Amino acid sequence: MSLILVLNSGSSSIKYELIDMAGPVTVAEGLVERIGEETSRVEHVAQGMSYLIERPLVDHRAGLAAMAEAFDATVPVDPAALTAVGHRVVHGGDRFSQPAVIDDEVLDAIRECIPLAPLHNPANLTGIEVALQAFPDCPHVAVFDTAFHQTMPPASYRYAIDREVAAAHRIRRYGFHGTSHAFVSRRAAEFLDIPLDTSRIITLHLGNGASACAIRNGASIDTSMGLTPLAGLVMGTRSGDIDPGALLHLLREGMSVEDVDSLLNKRSGMKGLTGDNDLRQVHAAAATGDAHAVEALEVYVHAIRHYVGAYLAELGGADALVFTAGVGENDAAVREAVCAGLAPLGIAIDAGKNASTRGPNEVVNLTARGAPVQVLVVPTNEELEIATQSLASVRSSAIE
Ligand code: AMP
Repeated sequence: MSLILVLNSGSSSIKYELIDMAGPVTVAEGLVERIGEETSRVEHVAQGMSYLIERPLVDHRAGLAAMAEAFDATVPVDPAALTAVGHRVVHGGDRFSQPAVIDDEVLDAIRECIPLAPLHNPANLTGIEVALQAFPDCPHVAVFDTAFHQTMPPASYRYAIDREVAAAHRIRRYGFHGTSHAFVSRRAAEFLDIPLDTSRIITLHLGNGASACAIRNGASIDTSMGLTPLAGLVMGTRSGDIDPGALLHLLREGMSVEDVDSLLNKRSGMKGLTGDNDLRQVHAAAATGDAHAVEALEVYVHAIRHYVGAYLAELGGADALVFTAGVGENDAAVREAVCAGLAPLGIAIDAGKNASTRGPNEVVNLTARGAPVQVLVVPTNEELEIATQSLASVRSSAIE
């Protein structure tokens, strides 16, 4: 049995999942949230049993202790039985193209990436430091959102600005959601029974955050997010692509850096256009004739089609187009709008298959009869991918 505990630590939350890789099967999962507030809580589910803790948890250490308490009350796990703890780390800069078994050097490298991800990396580090103390006897592995995209060529990752400024500030495209793009592209190739290493796949991770990825022979060659997870597609609350001149204009007009940051990250995207970041609400508003909602959906789909077209050009066609994450997996109307009129490019979906219901974790092929690009819905599972990469990393470092 290989037990991997996956931890995704945010500034006030810890999402966790314990996976038995022999299945693979989820043993337990949960969320510690509102750490540092009066109303902290742990929502834990283990083999059908739910367990709730509601009491103030002052810091991440108290959060992990409460998680352990929830395990003890449901499925007690001896920490000595853990094969590894896998940590999601948002930014690995250009230093990490693979997961890394955590030691002091790796911790320093994650710390050095804080300026590139000032909101995420400090929280990820806190989670790692607390977990190293809570589980001192097993290896800990850092799995980076950026790592999968380190195979991009300079044509994709280099921004056309002064080289010295770019180098001094480490400004380039890094890309994110790497674990999801890696997971769903591999699953798609398995499902279609085509060799990943001679395939061309476009993946669309459409959740609250959203990104597209062009994958040639199993390696990312381009992705829509950039230096930060703000670029590319229109998202729940993030703008996606915008002329950088607009930022300069706002700053000159007197907005502070913090205001512009909050505008683009928290008050833009579907939220900025409609007041709601959840596509279900936006569809409901559009159905009542709300003009802003109708237009917002058009803007949302336009950005996705822009990248699908770009990546078809970069890849010279595609074997598969993959929809994943909250919107990609559930929103048939968005999938239909993204694929509409693309038959000349090889993309056409079957309306009946697109509208069909799907079991959890089930891959569905939406392709219309005779269309050459296979259009799939592939449910993502970033926790399982982190666990898989952590296990592989621990095994290969044991062999070295
Ligand atoms: P994620 O970040 O992958 O959890 O995706 C969350 C987003 O997916 C939500 O904010 C919704 O916009 C969207 N979503 C989830 N379920 C549905 C659904 N059934 N139909 C349309 N959109 C959905």
